Amino acid sequence: MTSTDFVHHPFHDEDGDSLREECGVFGVVGARDAAAVTALGLHALQHRGQEAAGIVSYDGQEFHVLRGNGHVAENFGTGEAMAELPGTMSCGHVRYSTTGGTGLRNVQPLYAELASGGFAIAHNGNISNAMHLRSDLVRRGAIFQGTADTEVIIPLVATSRYPTLLDKFVDALRMLEGAYSLICSTPAGMIACRDPLGIRPLVMGHIPEKDGKGAVVFASETVALDIVGAVFDREVEAGELIEVDLDGKTTSHRPFTKTASRPCIFEHVYFSRPDSISAGQSVYSVRKAIGQQLAIESPADVDLVIPVPDSGVPAAIGYAQESGVPFELGIIRSHYVGRTFIQPSDGARTNSVSRKHNANRALVAGKRIVLIDDSIVRGTTSLKIVQMMRDAGATEVHMRIASPPTMHSCFYGVDTPERNKLLAARMDMDAMREFIQADSLAFVSIDGLYRAVGEAERKPKCPQYCDACFTGDYPTRLTDLAEKTHAGQLNLAPGKPEKVA
Ligand code: AMP
Repeated sequence: MTSTDFVHHPFHDEDGDSLREECGVFGVVGARDAAAVTALGLHALQHRGQEAAGIVSYDGQEFHVLRGNGHVAENFGTGEAMAELPGTMSCGHVRYSTTGGTGLRNVQPLYAELASGGFAIAHNGNISNAMHLRSDLVRRGAIFQGTADTEVIIPLVATSRYPTLLDKFVDALRMLEGAYSLICSTPAGMIACRDPLGIRPLVMGHIPEKDGKGAVVFASETVALDIVGAVFDREVEAGELIEVDLDGKTTSHRPFTKTASRPCIFEHVYFSRPDSISAGQSVYSVRKAIGQQLAIESPADVDLVIPVPDSGVPAAIGYAQESGVPFELGIIRSHYVGRTFIQPSDGARTNSVSRKHNANRALVAGKRIVLIDDSIVRGTTSLKIVQMMRDAGATEVHMRIASPPTMHSCFYGVDTPERNKLLAARMDMDAMREFIQADSLAFVSIDGLYRAVGEAERKPKCPQYCDACFTGDYPTRLTDLAEKTHAGQLNLAPGKPEKVA
């Protein structure tokens, strides 16, 4: 491996050999078929990552590791696969990545043999000083297998001078910047923790058992608790580290100075499943409320409200209810095409938008419509959909977006492209409207979004959420970025407008 093999989104071109990090994690301690429970949990988190999946189980003696590219069902859908993963403790991971760098060496949970025994780690988020830490570790002789940011945690733990594994782990965490929700398995049990700002989600629950000794479960989203029959107990709090021993006894630690949490608001906008409860709120209700805010802020004189399926559906219901304009399905989605966003090139993306969506011609012909989608990233989807509606005979096509303009890259684990590919970073509102060829275009305001999550407004001095993709207000230091002096990433001035699709 050369040093250029250490490629890390978002410092590299999205068409290059780069990793995409938005993932789902799951862990269970004290279940009879822990790996089967984990496979089920990961299945409910599949929307968080479709590129690869992995499970590590522990049977009291040994760790068992199975990882593969593709969906959870492809890797863990058979009795044979489950037979390879015995034990009552297990952790798992689904990973979001499509282009290049997809070798199994990067598929999580990562596993290593430390002085204290086996150590498996599953990570959701992005360590924004991983490159810096890695070059430092390499200089000191550490050897890396893969290119994922998560891997730096292993040598940091291994080389810590603290005596116990927990202390070593905390010592390692204190060196990290960025976002991490982690689930680790060790011979003593499981450790689950969230970064001090709680940027990525992590919830805790338990599976009640008849003999009274239930299993403890951790997951990125509550939908994964639902599917395994677990009861939601609470969120792992920002900056909290929870240890669970093999008997299910839990101990909570607070290794960091307490700061106000900053959960990612984009989980509400797009990433989480609508049937999840995130940061104490129903994601579905929040999305509907964003649609209501949008209708209040940016009404449209139209005949129909049409969602861009599936991501725009709850917001479109909210928009329709608030405006009194009928909600109709003017676009039908094929469920056999993956997310358009993760296709490797713009050409492939454009094609897959048309394979994914089709106009309900009989409905939209001759109508004035307003389309509702959750976000515009590169603009590929919007441009295609607006054209599709016009081709189907819509007389006016207005576009409303249930998030503020996405103007900045995410360095905390949501897969946004480099700034110069973000439509809103390249163009002003009118140029964007012209680019997607809509009759009008409006985004919900940042305060409208905060109102939808139950806040009176965004507090500019100490924002209640991480909203850096919309505001550029990054809540942590970005050491790697500063070191790479990657021009354009933090540059607030928009780039030169150019057509990308
Ligand atoms: P684009 O076509 O590049 O403008 O992408 C916009 C579409 O991608 C929206 O309809 C969203 O539903 C979806 N989207 C937004 N953010 C992400 C993300 N981080 N990962 C995958 N899809 C996304």
